[in-house]
Amino acid sequence: MENKITKPNEIFVSEEEKILNWSEVQSAFEKNFGTEVYSSWLKNITLLKEYNDYLILGVPTRFFRDWIVSRYLDKILEQIKKFKLSLNRVEFKVLDENFSKTSDKNKIDDLNKVTEIKDSILNYNRLNPNFSFDNFVEGSSNEIALSSSRKVCEQISRYNPLYVYGGVGLGKTHLLNAIGLELQKKTNVMFISAERFMYHFIKSIKKNDMVNFKDFFRESSVFIIDDIQFIRGKEGLQEEFFHTFNSLIEKSSQIIISADRSPVKLDRVQERIKSRLSGGLIVDIDAPDLELKKKIIKKRLEDMQNQFKENCSLEEDVVNFIAAESKTNIRELIGILNRVVTFSRIHKKALSISDCKNILKDVFNQAKIITVDKIQNTVSNFFNISLNEMLSQRRSRPLARPRQIAMYLAKQLTTRSLPEIGRRFANRDHTTVIHAVKTIKRLSEKDDEMKRNISHIRGLILEE
Ligand code: ADP
Ligand code: MG
Repeated sequence: MENKITKPNEIFVSEEEKILNWSEVQSAFEKNFGTEVYSSWLKNITLLKEYNDYLILGVPTRFFRDWIVSRYLDKILEQIKKFKLSLNRVEFKVLDENFSKTSDKNKIDDLNKVTEIKDSILNYNRLNPNFSFDNFVEGSSNEIALSSSRKVCEQISRYNPLYVYGGVGLGKTHLLNAIGLELQKKTNVMFISAERFMYHFIKSIKKNDMVNFKDFFRESSVFIIDDIQFIRGKEGLQEEFFHTFNSLIEKSSQIIISADRSPVKLDRVQERIKSRLSGGLIVDIDAPDLELKKKIIKKRLEDMQNQFKENCSLEEDVVNFIAAESKTNIRELIGILNRVVTFSRIHKKALSISDCKNILKDVFNQAKIITVDKIQNTVSNFFNISLNEMLSQRRSRPLARPRQIAMYLAKQLTTRSLPEIGRRFANRDHTTVIHAVKTIKRLSEKDDEMKRNISHIRGLILEE
């Protein structure tokens, strides 16, 4: 029975995809989260199903799920990714409520239901309940984006489309998600990243099922699309998006879009699309100032306090320190805060600034020193080629290998995602990065010279 459940034989698992060895992942959890967290929480997670880019994990109760999702999700993903590069997200299934009262047969049925819907587009239309307006903290850098988002919720198609742009980790997805949660109460909402949109687009073409695709996306009353910059340079996708956009506007559906840049700066996007995107209201989210960072820290501490029913507060000077030291990315700020709070809870002590400095040494050092640029420069110097050559489209081995090595090291030494790394390499696709990482990993396992070179370059990058 177990086998039947965990063995992935779905189309989502590509041929070469390895089946994840869950006990290996568990060991990594134990090593990285520490025995205490591991044995009280993570040990109880089971692997139910594996797909190409996501996993369904079983957890005993709903409370359990909420707890680990709120506290450990990022790190869980990060750990599993080490074993499964293609992982994008995990989904938790509460075993207790679904199964305890039902027979074994029902268990299987229940899991099969998951399988059936896994392939439907609906499955990607999940809004994250944690990204709501309630926990979006307002500051001068985001107040206009926030108030416009609220207004869209009050009155649909007042601003159409609403276009929100800003740098990485500044709250775009959070805000779009909050709009989705709010509007979902009264109408049907489609929430999808541009990357997912393309995935379904291509799959529908392959399956000769464009009619369904078109109907599906043109049906929604509210269409939210995240990270639209992804369509740059993709002509077919732009064509489809343009038509989807037009038919939605025609029936007065609300469209909300996010991007990492303003519409005019979307190079390699058709002019007619840019002009559509600019036809409503454009708002930006800026980097947070010190005050907003402090407010976010305090809000998170308060939430944790309520959640854990124990003291999670930090001294004012420690809050100031974290806010000042963290870079402008709110995602990183929250990661740092989580580390500090975890440490303080485990050791049951109030932290001083110097404790924080110690805990965060790695984070700050890493964040400060290792950038993709730096890796690219070091690698191209090492191989005595110019940076331009390394990033060029030429495929000769003396250029391609260093390029792949640089991608591999970027994946290993920075926290950048695969698509982000691809973009830094003259806008290559993330699948190219995956290929490079796999190739170099394989070569460095069997080729001594490669192994030596990699370790030498890594040394150069880290010591500077
Ligand atoms: P983006 O999509 O712009 O890269 P996200 O929306 O994913 O950024 O935000 C990154 C993290 O920072 C998320 O955990 C989000 O909840 C948090 N965050 C961003 N802005 C705020 C804010 N103003 N208040 C509270 N949390 C925020
Ligand atoms: Mg985002």
